Amino acid sequence: MRRLFTRIGELATACGTEAVFGKAQGEIRRLHDAWLLCEGERIVSLGEGKPPEADEVVDCQSRLVTPGLVDCHTHLVFGGWREKELARKLAGATYLEILAAGGGILSTVRETRRASEDALYAKTKALMDEMLAHGTTALEIKSGYGLDLATEQKQLRVVQRLKSDNPDLAATFLGAHAFPEEMSHEDYVDFLCDIAIPAVAAEGLAAFCDVFCDAGVFTAEQAERILLTGKRYGLLPKLHADEIREIGGTEAAKRVGAVSCDHLSETGADGIRALKDGGVIAVMLPATSFYLQKPYGNFRGMIDADVPVAVATDMNPGSTPNLSLPFAMTAACLYGRLTPEEVLSAATLNGAAAIRLSDRLGTLEPGKLCDLVVWDADNLEQLIYRYGTNRAAAVWKRGVCRNGKETV
Ligand SMILES: [Zn+2]
Repeated sequence: MRRLFTRIGELATACGTEAVFGKAQGEIRRLHDAWLLCEGERIVSLGEGKPPEADEVVDCQSRLVTPGLVDCHTHLVFGGWREKELARKLAGATYLEILAAGGGILSTVRETRRASEDALYAKTKALMDEMLAHGTTALEIKSGYGLDLATEQKQLRVVQRLKSDNPDLAATFLGAHAFPEEMSHEDYVDFLCDIAIPAVAAEGLAAFCDVFCDAGVFTAEQAERILLTGKRYGLLPKLHADEIREIGGTEAAKRVGAVSCDHLSETGADGIRALKDGGVIAVMLPATSFYLQKPYGNFRGMIDADVPVAVATDMNPGSTPNLSLPFAMTAACLYGRLTPEEVLSAATLNGAAAIRLSDRLGTLEPGKLCDLVVWDADNLEQLIYRYGTNRAAAVWKRGVCRNGKETV
């Protein structure tokens, strides 16, 4: 069945099947008075002016159409919420004080251990539907709130079950998210390398392995050992680095051949050079900086140094309970000084590259999946500018309208 999206006011898309960087990150394709033709779940052709014949027509009413957004960094499977910490934070309590009062990440660990797999599945599915309604058609989900094998596996099994609803999900094993209360740091790193990684890989539960490499968490040496172990078991390396302080995470990313290095709000010139030399994608998380009232990071320095920049939400119950990628895109423009064109590449093609899905999605081009969003906006600038409300009018996933009206 050939479906034609017609009367597209502006069609904005990055191009290609690999991450774009430097000047190319801002060189997107913008068509006006455009159309796009799909057959089944794939894009056949697109252009401006007179459209071809089709079996079914979707009138986009002169609105903006972009590729479906790709959120390449989320912690979407978790028990409980942490809204009670907000008042304490606003009253000036430090993270350590909140932790001492029974809050912080270990409270999410307790809730996640306690929750059944079915309960976690239902909760995560609802969050994923909400993300879809905001334009996100593909995403990555990390474990990391178990810190024991059974719970980490439970979280990753939830992600595998969600693939029947959305096959374009990437699962990441983040056992190295924090240290559990019941084990020494040395014993926990041994446990991750000797027991958890082999077990997760044997069950085919994850494509990536991630480590929170930062002050007070995992050292660069520990991160390297864990990620190289993961690599031996077929899990591609990723890192959380330089969120609190530079402790060598970007160098470790370069040495292990990481696909991406994420957060990077404190990264300086040497770290940027390490990312460039290692061919590592920089995943920036401005919504986290917003919620934590922390620095945003040197986005422009990354672009100028030819490091591909992606933008993601980091959705999690502690440091940023926001699942709107458009909000993160606006923050990346305002505080990271990305242009609207650069941020579109960051939240689509480069996000897809950061989870190794850019061969099939992240742009609107013939042969790619028909993942697209019709936005209640005239053009790309208006999408970034009118932040704070959901502007996704219709979201199409693999050629099926999953949210909004088929004819908008
Ligand atoms: Zn994270």
